[in-house]
Amino acid sequence: MPKNLSKIAKSKKIKYFLISFVDLFGVLRSKLVPAQAIDEMQKNGAGFAGFATWLDMSPADSDMFAIPDPESLIQLPWNKEVGWLASDLWMNGKPVKASPRIMLKDQIAKLNLLNLKMKSGVECEYFLISEDGERIADARDIQSKPCYDQSALMRRYELIKEICDSMIELGWNPYQNDHEDANGQFEMNWDYSDCLVTADRQTFFKFMVKSLAEKHGLRATFMPKPFSNLTGNGCHAHVSLWDGKVNKFLDKGDRYGLSKIAYNFVGGLIKNASSLSAFFNPTINSYRRINAPPTLSGATWSPSTISYTGNNRTHMIRIPDEGRFELRLMDGSANPYLIQAGILASGLFGMKNKSDPGEPLTCNMYTDYKNYPNLPKLPDILEDALEKMDHNKDIRESFGNDVIDSYLKLKREEIKNFSREETFQKNKSITDWEKKNTLDC
Ligand SMILES: [Mg+2]
Repeated sequence: MPKNLSKIAKSKKIKYFLISFVDLFGVLRSKLVPAQAIDEMQKNGAGFAGFATWLDMSPADSDMFAIPDPESLIQLPWNKEVGWLASDLWMNGKPVKASPRIMLKDQIAKLNLLNLKMKSGVECEYFLISEDGERIADARDIQSKPCYDQSALMRRYELIKEICDSMIELGWNPYQNDHEDANGQFEMNWDYSDCLVTADRQTFFKFMVKSLAEKHGLRATFMPKPFSNLTGNGCHAHVSLWDGKVNKFLDKGDRYGLSKIAYNFVGGLIKNASSLSAFFNPTINSYRRINAPPTLSGATWSPSTISYTGNNRTHMIRIPDEGRFELRLMDGSANPYLIQAGILASGLFGMKNKSDPGEPLTCNMYTDYKNYPNLPKLPDILEDALEKMDHNKDIRESFGNDVIDSYLKLKREEIKNFSREETFQKNKSITDWEKKNTLDC
């Protein structure tokens, strides 16, 4: 029996529910529903006009319904009257295939056929900036190597503490908070979970950080590269595959502690990384972070070449510890559901085709890349990533042609809108369009 939201509302004193979904561009959308109406909404969903969001729909389409997943319920720690719910989109009695949470659930269903579950954790980096987005909020945060700067971290103690306390209260098991490699940049880490739970939590985390920052008179941004001279906002993911309590990625006999299945999974990611950049680096601004020149701190901490390694942060995939790997490709604008869906789809491909990732590299890829001219490079601009995805028949097969076509259509329209106003030049300053359209990603 699914949890009864109406009963929960009474016992937890929830007055309103936010019935939420994330569209293909990662925008979080909701209806605020009074608890007295939640019974009906739990059954039939909250109605939306799909065309009014970033989904491939027409104004003539019938209503789309967001059916909340009661398991995803989060009572807002800073406003207990409100319960947040992730939901799945339905239209004409069928799930909306080209919607992010359904796309992830479809991949999870394929993995379930193998009796496996993917667990993952994400590292969400963000900046605290001025209201207009022109500068970082803390004028004293000026060290050229600001990573782990204690004073700058503690000047934000009240906000960081409120976010971390919230995660403790929600049972996410947060375990560290730090000042990251760019001035004004922070990262907070919580435990890994089932990949759908992680996607829901990441969605909520972004909402929570932005909301609490506002409450403290600040603005938070997950934009991939808000300042061209500073390190960008990455969103690294740590991945493992489980059969019950057994980690199928673990092999203690291997030099890095990874199993054959794990290497095949990594092989699938290596083969599809360029195409998946369309999901993992989905904004025009994303390509200021990838293939970028070194920053003020000395490193971009983001990949440019498609390669993997042991415990070495200069490659796209790092194996920091036995039984898991870290994918460092994604940035803060990536859709939480498409991060997990993209990783899982390419991993399933790699396992099915026994993809060989080749030999790991141990070099410093930031300085030694010239010694590896044959390694594939990541796409340099969004158009290239979309082009790669368009021609990738395996990704098309994984998600379905309709889904990929919908995504590419919307993304290409976005590029057209940008091009009417601006031109993308990596060596020129970040455009107003990028700021207007990406600061709140
Ligand atoms: Mg980091």
